[in-house]
Amino acid sequence: MTETRSTCPYCGVGCGVIIESDGAQVTGVRGDPDHPANFGRLCTKGSTLHHTAAPAITKQARLLHPMRREHRGEAPYRVSWDSALGLATETFAQVIGEHGPDAVGFYISGQLLTEDYYVFNKLAKGLICTNNVDTNSRLCMSSAVAGYKMTLGADAPPTCYDDVDDAGCIFIVGSNTAWAHPILFRRIEEAKARNPQMKIVFCDPRRTDTAEIADLYLPILPGTDVMLFHGLLHIMLWEGWTNGAYIAAHTNGFDELKATVRECTPETVSQTCGITKEDLFTAAKWFATSPATLSLYCQGLNQSSSGTAKNAALINLHLATGHIGKPGAGPFSLTGQPNAMGGREVGGLANLLSAHRDMADPQHRAEVAALWGVPSVPDKPGKTAVEMFQAAADGEIKALWIACTNPAQSMPDQSTVRRALERAEFVVVQESFATTSTCDYADLLLPATTWGEKDGTVTNSERRISRVRPAVAAPGSTRHDWHIAVEFAQRLEKRLGRATKLFAYATPESIWNEHRESTRGRDLDITGLSYAMLDSAGPQQWPLRTGDSAGRKRLYEDGVFPTADGKAKFANVAYKPVAEPRESRFPFSLTTGRLRDHWHGMSRTGTLGRLFGHVPEPVVQMNPSDMSRRLLKEGDLVHVTSKRGSIVVPVQASPELGFSQAFIAMHWGSEYLSGCTSTGAQIAGVNAITTSSYCPTSKQPELKHAAVKILKAELP
Ligand code: SF4
Repeated sequence: MTETRSTCPYCGVGCGVIIESDGAQVTGVRGDPDHPANFGRLCTKGSTLHHTAAPAITKQARLLHPMRREHRGEAPYRVSWDSALGLATETFAQVIGEHGPDAVGFYISGQLLTEDYYVFNKLAKGLICTNNVDTNSRLCMSSAVAGYKMTLGADAPPTCYDDVDDAGCIFIVGSNTAWAHPILFRRIEEAKARNPQMKIVFCDPRRTDTAEIADLYLPILPGTDVMLFHGLLHIMLWEGWTNGAYIAAHTNGFDELKATVRECTPETVSQTCGITKEDLFTAAKWFATSPATLSLYCQGLNQSSSGTAKNAALINLHLATGHIGKPGAGPFSLTGQPNAMGGREVGGLANLLSAHRDMADPQHRAEVAALWGVPSVPDKPGKTAVEMFQAAADGEIKALWIACTNPAQSMPDQSTVRRALERAEFVVVQESFATTSTCDYADLLLPATTWGEKDGTVTNSERRISRVRPAVAAPGSTRHDWHIAVEFAQRLEKRLGRATKLFAYATPESIWNEHRESTRGRDLDITGLSYAMLDSAGPQQWPLRTGDSAGRKRLYEDGVFPTADGKAKFANVAYKPVAEPRESRFPFSLTTGRLRDHWHGMSRTGTLGRLFGHVPEPVVQMNPSDMSRRLLKEGDLVHVTSKRGSIVVPVQASPELGFSQAFIAMHWGSEYLSGCTSTGAQIAGVNAITTSSYCPTSKQPELKHAAVKILKAELP
């Protein structure tokens, strides 16, 4: 038996795994006791990874050879790599030649490794000269990026997992940590058991399992987070609980913010957020007066039309109390995906450039152009996720390359997304699994390797870079994502008549080394790190500069922030209600989220029957009182309808939810809902009804709220 150290491909906790194999097949998996993210532990998803790599599943579910589809709706047929990449090159070159570089778009994924991400970003911005490269991480953490930059000056979570052990108060908001980040939650449970004085405040419209550990639960109404945070600051100011010395020495803009939060009285906040003034006061007291307060937050803040404001308003509380830059304290955004952080680091989004540079900054564009050896990188803003599919639906983007993600299930407002995929003249889908809905729209399917086969790096929520290593050979004709992108780029470079050789990479390490060089002098500088050091010293946090012997555990301990004057900036943001408030025709607030045992569109977890034991089928959850008022019984089929579409699912009573609220898990798509009926032409899971309204700053869509009606489905 061979043992290979690698990383779990699911959530942003980034647990280390040891893959057991017999040389040909993965035979087992266990937690890596030496990995600082999990110290040997794995959750239900991680501990069943080896089953998802079983030969029978590879045979049934994997895309193993390049496939071509002559006409949409027809079955694809097998082609050679040479033919597939030749077709892709020729078609992209034609579209670029006839319509310009912005007529193509790349939609990639936080599941990709940093090396894969780097090549796609350079391919779009450096070779093709379009900023139309965005990622499903836009749906996951772009509000966190914008919130950090707005307040602290850089997109860098200043905290680490060890801070959980040192915190006196943990403020969990908009995160069902117990299910979405289970190994981190276990660490919180242990820290609380060791230190019963620790206070845990949990704030979320749903009383999820995470509430079980809380000393105080704040069931705020959906979308009212900014009002809550401003209300907490109002009380802190009134009670003299802010840290004047820290504010004076290390921040700007507090007076302007004070004027805003003055209006957020306990009465106003209680009424807007639906919580008691007493609970508000207790939360403010514990947050401010604890020796160290750590905030943990995720999609409840990010997936919002006020996502940036929510992030920034929470960070305001840390700056106002000085709970930042010391053990146990700071704002800690949890990343949903295994490498959402790596994508940010290489600038793999429509508005970013390598190493946390901004596409809008001429100096940054010049630096990246010099690094890549190209005359310039484009300054025209690229299309972000929602915009990209809207542009394809409008006929503006004609060729789409989709890698390692399933927008025909995961994007909001599916009718627009599916119209985009139908209208695009050429759709390339680079995938490991043949079972995703997006594969149905592909003109060309390119088979990619996956967990257990890939080689490279990922970065987890605490800025820790870990190695991903192959345990077995690539099955069938599959190739690594970076390799596919590099070969396409080399062919396109030649076809476009460029004299450059921008993609002369033979290994993922050579790509990573170029990425490393791009970070020199930046906040995430990793010039002191190498693959060899990751192999010998284990996973490392950034920054790790030349000469450093280890990565930096915590940021801003010196109180100096990466801004022009070294001071953080309070964000004077206003509270705004959700984009689509409940109304008489659509009287329910629908929210979406994860389950404990499934991942995203279930392309991997859906292959294992045992992972359906926890929640076997899609349901809409409602408060029992709402059900009885509508004469609904457990298991009744109901239409859940928004302004955009309708789906039919069984109803389930859930006292976790407040009145007029509903919840549907994000994981099921059309394949899994095929047993249900629908009022629409197509069934596309919950995203048939979600809204594509997004935060104007981060462009992250409001997947956490849509106004819906719920009516009993009449059986024929
Ligand atoms: Fe994988 Fe996340 Fe579970 Fe860790 S907590 S084993 S990274 S899914």
